Amino acid sequence: MKATTTIASSSSGTPVAHNAVPPSATSAARANRVAPHSHIKGLGLTAEGFSAGDAGGFVGQANAREACGVVVDLVKSRKFSGRALLLVGAPGTGKTALALALSHELGSKVPFCPMVGSEVYSSEVKKTEVLAEAFRRAIGLRIKETKEVYEGEVTEITPSEAENPLAGYGKTVSHVVVGLKTARGTKQLRLDPSVYEAILKERIVVGDVVYIEANTGAVKRVGRSDAYASSFDLESETYVPLPKGDVHKRKELVQDVTLGDLDAANARPQGGQDIMSVMGSLVRTGRTEVTDKLRREVNKVVKQYVDQGVAEVVPGVVFIDEVHMLDIECFTYLNALLESPMAPTVIFATNRGNALVRGTTDVVSPHGVPGDLLDRCLIVKTETYARAQIAQVLQVRAQVEGIQLGPGVLDKLAEEGERASLRYALQLLAPAAILARMAGRDAIVIDDVDEMGGMFLDAKTSASALAQEAGM
Ligand code: ATP
Repeated sequence: MKATTTIASSSSGTPVAHNAVPPSATSAARANRVAPHSHIKGLGLTAEGFSAGDAGGFVGQANAREACGVVVDLVKSRKFSGRALLLVGAPGTGKTALALALSHELGSKVPFCPMVGSEVYSSEVKKTEVLAEAFRRAIGLRIKETKEVYEGEVTEITPSEAENPLAGYGKTVSHVVVGLKTARGTKQLRLDPSVYEAILKERIVVGDVVYIEANTGAVKRVGRSDAYASSFDLESETYVPLPKGDVHKRKELVQDVTLGDLDAANARPQGGQDIMSVMGSLVRTGRTEVTDKLRREVNKVVKQYVDQGVAEVVPGVVFIDEVHMLDIECFTYLNALLESPMAPTVIFATNRGNALVRGTTDVVSPHGVPGDLLDRCLIVKTETYARAQIAQVLQVRAQVEGIQLGPGVLDKLAEEGERASLRYALQLLAPAAILARMAGRDAIVIDDVDEMGGMFLDAKTSASALAQEAGM
């Protein structure tokens, strides 16, 4: 097992967690994008796939939720490959929330990688690279490792030296025998020299109660078995002996990373030392950039570990909002990405009707998406909200954000939401709460909302104000 558990292990054998890869600015941005949807737990459908009222954090949108439920079934039965879901609807009608809910329905550890179409236009990175990276970040890899854990009172520490006549002063320890006593008896363990090193470093002696991880060589003193070192109970005025654990436990450890994480770690020799040491052949090239070749090499190693049963691929969801912002080159590339055997579930969203396909001079297509890609899409429309639904979403968000609403505030905000958009009304919550706090109040009152309206305009009001000024 030991040899096969190194896919994401450091030289000392310490597994490299998901967060071993330094968080990038893009991952922070991604977390920010998901935060406003923290109340969304799933599509809220019955076992038969119907939306029975508001559930899963969702208010209304029954049709869209049920349609997304069908997509979940298609993905789970592997009948959605090569295809994509296109969510169309006005801003703030829950397209992102639906995409996130769909990914929750696929599994709790399924990676969700949201991006906005315009993100592909960067001066430093090629458009297709941005898309490729998003797809890689939407493919999870679950690494399973079995840890050998021992716990008990030390009865013996006997190092064995290697049969090396030249060892001399710097003797080589070939292994160490550690005796461990538990409630069930005593056991002699033959452990690696790294465990002996840790025993010396931690100054472990006979009588200590220890916790040993045999694979990683980690040793921790949990306490002493004798009365002096065990905890003194003030009430009974007696020493309470420390509990002694099991001699042998096997712990299943699971690490979740994405292919994007592995690519990035391999492209950054100084930052991703751990994974690098595993994929040594890549390190030697001293790459600083994720290239197609590097991705192929990462894939190769991943495949080996999947074949050995150490890792499991967890396809996630890539969500591209404002898909009409992509251009023809991106759309062509997306067609190819969709064909890849390791493609995640792809969800697009747009609020555009017929639009020019960017990068062309005369191709007008529904939603600004070329026909060949549209042919692959299942299209689902989101409905605009009635005032009562806006009020419900506002209430849920206020609760999640710990914001108290005074009398009449919910109606007032819902009215704003109906006039402008749900998103606008939701965005008023946090600054109105600040105003309330500045005035020494716990709850938002109607005056706070009015004051906000004077400070921050919704898009329709600001546009018509400018249009009026231009006309003067
Ligand atoms: P855009 O097109 O501008 O990206 P969108 O259609 O993706 O907008 P969201 O960002 O999903 O809209 O919705 C705005 C906010 O309202 C989010 O906080 C979202 O979680 C919440 N929301 C939208 N619809 C619902 C709903 N039906 N039930 C609960 N919350 C919702």
